[in-house]
Amino acid sequence: MSMGFDKETFKKSVIYNVKNVFRKTIDEATPEQAFQAVAYAVKDVIIDEWIATHKEYEKQDAKTLYYLSMEFLMGRALGNNIINIMALPEVKEVLDELGFDLNAIEDQEPDPALGNGGLGRLAACFLDSLATLGYPAYGCGIRYRYGMFKQKIENGYQMEVPDDWLKNGYPFEVRRAEYATEVKFGGYVRTVWENGREHFVQEGYQSVRAVPYDMPIVGYGNNVVNTLRIWDAEAINTFSLDSFDKGDYQKAVEQENLAKTIVEVLYPNDNHYAGKELRLKQQYFFISASVQRAVKKYMEKHEDIHKFFEKTVFQLNDTHPTVAVPELMRILLDEFNLTWDEAWAVTTKTCAYTNHTIMSEALEKWPIELFSRLLPRIYQIVEEINRRFVEQIQQMYPGNQDKIRKMAIIYDGQVRMANLAIVGGFSVNGVARLHTEILKKEELRDFYEMMPQKFNNKTNGITQRRFLLHGNPLLAEWVTGKIGSEWITNLPHIHRLAVYADDPKCQQEFMDIKYQNKVRLAKYIKEHNGIDVDPRSIFDVQVKRLHEYKRQLMNILHVIYLYNQLKDNPNLDMVPRTFIFGAKAAAGYKRAKLTIKLINSVADVINNDKSIDGKIKVVFIEDYKVSNAEIIFAAADVSEQISTASKEASGTGNMKFMLNGALTLGTMDGANVEIVEEVGAENAFIFGMTSDEVIGYENKGGYNPMEIFNNNYQIRRVLMQLINGYFAPQDPELFRDIYNSLLNTQSSDRADTYFILKDFPSYAEAQQKVDQAYRNETWWAKAAILNVACSGKFTSDRTIEEYVNDIWHLEKVKVEIEANQ
Ligand SMILES: *Cc1c(COP(=O)(O)O)cnc(C)c1O
Repeated sequence: MSMGFDKETFKKSVIYNVKNVFRKTIDEATPEQAFQAVAYAVKDVIIDEWIATHKEYEKQDAKTLYYLSMEFLMGRALGNNIINIMALPEVKEVLDELGFDLNAIEDQEPDPALGNGGLGRLAACFLDSLATLGYPAYGCGIRYRYGMFKQKIENGYQMEVPDDWLKNGYPFEVRRAEYATEVKFGGYVRTVWENGREHFVQEGYQSVRAVPYDMPIVGYGNNVVNTLRIWDAEAINTFSLDSFDKGDYQKAVEQENLAKTIVEVLYPNDNHYAGKELRLKQQYFFISASVQRAVKKYMEKHEDIHKFFEKTVFQLNDTHPTVAVPELMRILLDEFNLTWDEAWAVTTKTCAYTNHTIMSEALEKWPIELFSRLLPRIYQIVEEINRRFVEQIQQMYPGNQDKIRKMAIIYDGQVRMANLAIVGGFSVNGVARLHTEILKKEELRDFYEMMPQKFNNKTNGITQRRFLLHGNPLLAEWVTGKIGSEWITNLPHIHRLAVYADDPKCQQEFMDIKYQNKVRLAKYIKEHNGIDVDPRSIFDVQVKRLHEYKRQLMNILHVIYLYNQLKDNPNLDMVPRTFIFGAKAAAGYKRAKLTIKLINSVADVINNDKSIDGKIKVVFIEDYKVSNAEIIFAAADVSEQISTASKEASGTGNMKFMLNGALTLGTMDGANVEIVEEVGAENAFIFGMTSDEVIGYENKGGYNPMEIFNNNYQIRRVLMQLINGYFAPQDPELFRDIYNSLLNTQSSDRADTYFILKDFPSYAEAQQKVDQAYRNETWWAKAAILNVACSGKFTSDRTIEEYVNDIWHLEKVKVEIEANQ
């Protein structure tokens, strides 16, 4: 139990909060009010440790990491915080005594969905690990008024509903007005001569006030509480007399509007660059505020800004925070009057960049016109960085225009953010071994040849505290019963389970737990989708953002193919299978949204076909998010990780499934490669082209899917069902675009860009092996237990230790707390 936790105090605190906040006695409180009261009581416990942690950091003058990210997909905080302060049994007892159920109260919390998918969830797992390992770190991001939209399925179509996550207030956040700061946009730069040197002053700008809200990030059982700092925008001196006097009414209104719109909404694109002006405003807004604050904090304790990098490191989560490079340069040049070389030496020792994708549609490029208009001083600095870098290229490769074309930061009317991030930092990392190798050999080859020392790999990880201890309490307790609780903070220790993989009693226990988790998910599906699913069927799950490269389309085409076989032969011997999908599509991604409609249309036909005797069910779970993800992973038998090889940089969903004892059905892509290496290819179902084969075809301009169409009757039959009204009798043309994407070269796109038909036969064969394997319960249980036992590498604790050793060089800090202060 946490040193700061006292059961009776906690109980009084909950009762008091209900009274004080809602003017009610505890027995009158609604579940939502009870949630608020419990959350505030938990925050009370956390606060002392939070303060103590930061005192300790100050005392030790510890080097601090700023993890800069446009997204933090945190999931619910209450349950995780209770676990991490090690007060779960006591809190349950108190709530029991008060007549409440913890699960029901947890269900009242909105998911703070300040992220899209994997990238934002990675940032959240990293914060959990940093706090648990005791490293001084801030997450820095944006307090979006509306986070990721809520997905409703109506008539099979995705509808986007605003996610008003702050409507009842968020109990864990603290507004820190004392750290508010100004961020400037637009205007022009005036050059003045002073003391024999040029100075640059931004004038005629609009500005907003950035106000931070802090959320506690509680380490597991170690009294450490770090901070996620998300910035809100407020208007500066709205309608001040000043503005009226100067006739600046227009400007005052514009500043008011800028503040309102800037943090209004999270862009719902995953792995896709939209190029919207407001997005660049968001980026500069939270980066300028975060960098200004980091510099101020450093200067409170230190004299010499030249040594800033000794106490500070900025990790850029993808290119979205790359303006941190020129913003730090601006502060050093314009506010501290450093020379260019001095400022550059500090900046390039402070910033480090994580690459998350090689797909060209995700590469951020800003038109010069937009960039220089919005950020005139920052643009000047980027121009100078580019001028000096191009000079360096020319020295190294005299007369080689191709090198400049590929590596210049400003080229062809655009500012290329990845190039700026690579040049402006000391580290470039990929997120799985295969991904990093592709970066070095293909996408970033020229940079790798010029600066090989910057490149390194950091295979992603996930936190076992959320995705096993919190999300799957039955399995967590079973694991602890077998091998003790060390796995909670040292996941490789879970390998001790391997000796139980062959034990029939353990296999039975494991499968019973899986069954109970499937019952829990079936109940969720019944409540939320109104569909009955059989927990004895194989739960075959693909949950992740909807994207063509992730190939949900291949999955659903295979479901159709199986269904056809069942229709031809109603006695077909197959293990009943429930195909479970969950995915949000970007609001503007037409083909992805049509794929959701296709999945739901296929589900309608199959789920209502009595003739197949329930052998196949198809379920699309609405509004996939962290809180229901936890329930889904716990219940999965099969983990679908079927991206086109080379396209998924790492994946982290694959790791969550493995940790919960699902078997991977996947391609040799991203971290799947390393998962198979850990658990053995015999305990997974691997299929499809390799990344080398995919890249080989791409370099030849693709392949011809018509050959497959013409020669494979079963595939042709499935494709024809897309355009003959089989799944859309009212509108036979409904799925024409999907059909075209696979076969037609009418459009300028290559046909079947993601090699769905090419990989289909091998996928169907692997699916057949799944069916056969599941019949052998002993084999399956053993393989599932081995997946859990071999998941040790994929903890984000390991990833963080690698970042610390190779990039950040932080020191661990210990926080001691007196009891009952
Ligand atoms: C882990 C996770 C993701 C990332 O899943 P991938 O399969 O790696 O794409 C996306 N969304 C949520 C809610 C997650 O928990």
